[in-house]
Amino acid sequence: MHKPSMQSFTRLVFSTLALAGGAALAADAAPPVPQRVVIRAGRLLDPASGTIATDQVIVVEDGKFKAIGPKEKFPAGAEVIDLSQLTVMPGLVDTHNHLALTYKIDPERNNYYVTYISESTALRAIQAASNGIQMLASGFTIVRDMGNNGNHADTALRQAIEQGWIPGPKIINSGIIIGGMGGQFWPTPEMREEHHIVYPEYIEADTHDEIVKAVRQNMLYGAKVIKICADCKPWGYSVDEIKLVIAEAAMGGLKVESHVQTVEGARRVIEAGVWSIAHDIGLNDEMHKLMAKKGIFRAGTETPLSLTGHQTEEGWKHSVSGLKNAFDNKVAITYSTDADYYVPGKTRGQVAIEFIETWKAAGIPDKEILKAMTTTGYRCAETEATRGPIKPGLAADLIAVPGNPLEKIDALRDVQFVMKDGMVFKQKGVMTPESFFHGGPVNGWRIR
Ligand SMILES: [Zn+2]
Repeated sequence: MHKPSMQSFTRLVFSTLALAGGAALAADAAPPVPQRVVIRAGRLLDPASGTIATDQVIVVEDGKFKAIGPKEKFPAGAEVIDLSQLTVMPGLVDTHNHLALTYKIDPERNNYYVTYISESTALRAIQAASNGIQMLASGFTIVRDMGNNGNHADTALRQAIEQGWIPGPKIINSGIIIGGMGGQFWPTPEMREEHHIVYPEYIEADTHDEIVKAVRQNMLYGAKVIKICADCKPWGYSVDEIKLVIAEAAMGGLKVESHVQTVEGARRVIEAGVWSIAHDIGLNDEMHKLMAKKGIFRAGTETPLSLTGHQTEEGWKHSVSGLKNAFDNKVAITYSTDADYYVPGKTRGQVAIEFIETWKAAGIPDKEILKAMTTTGYRCAETEATRGPIKPGLAADLIAVPGNPLEKIDALRDVQFVMKDGMVFKQKGVMTPESFFHGGPVNGWRIR
């Protein structure tokens, strides 16, 4: 349902032709970005305060919010987008996705090790472009892309979106996951020694020199956050080694997330002071209390049981009780999915939205789930001053749904409208991405 039908695509092409006129098409088929757009919002939701203001007007200029309020006059000649029947709100954040990885039942039985050896980085980069579009269609305007993306396909995706080649969420990408020997793989001696199979899915960094180099390599190739695995192997990183990662990343202005799968691993990364922790396996009441004290973000990746084959009953119970415990301890909880697989019948965005089921089961109030999906997510992604909230001066990203997510979070399953950087990506439930496509880097060439 998130993809436009052929008929609607044809309608779009014809309407674009009618608007542009034959002569203009010869030079540049892409319609120009509107300089100024006025949006009528029937209900404007502020997740930070958990309130709704009715009959609001939002003025967007040059891709940014210019003014918001009930009494704004419509500027002359501005385009008016009528969302008077919808609830308008800021875009959603997934703080842990893998856009350039899609494992599946056929042929790899959901084993990403097989995906890795059978799909090229180039193919995965194209998947990433598609997955990014699918996420945006479901209202995710910001995605932290946390590794397992081949040979820096995540940087390629981010650059392509930022330069204006394709639509997609704002990407905060980690580059290649840094870990001790083997990474998350357990390769045979011959595959590791003779075929170097661990790289590029992981950078093996065992000594201090290797750790420094690994962080620098990621920064050089365009990472915006650093991801390590602190305890993927019995020889996981010590507190001092994690501190070294954090110090080196800070040289490039980057924060560090660690994959954690044991309580002892969690204890070490918390003591070292990482920015965020991925996965809930190693997080208990004691760890949550320490995280709350230090302000460490939690990206628990709580897979719902409804994604059959991707969660066990036992794992789900742990996720539900862990999420509730983290909430009770006032940990900075973010909405994170670890989505890196194909569920037949669902887009990547629909897979990501499905995770609300675990949050509901944990008894987290809808208003608080919404905060995790927005305001806490912006802080974790470090975009809160530039993108996320609907405030003057910030990037004009917003979504709209028919229901009220403050009362029923499932309203987010029906995102009807998406705007990113002041351009309409989806309206009336249909993707209309024309204004995002360009034959060149219209937003300037980015080398990193
Ligand atoms: Zn992951």
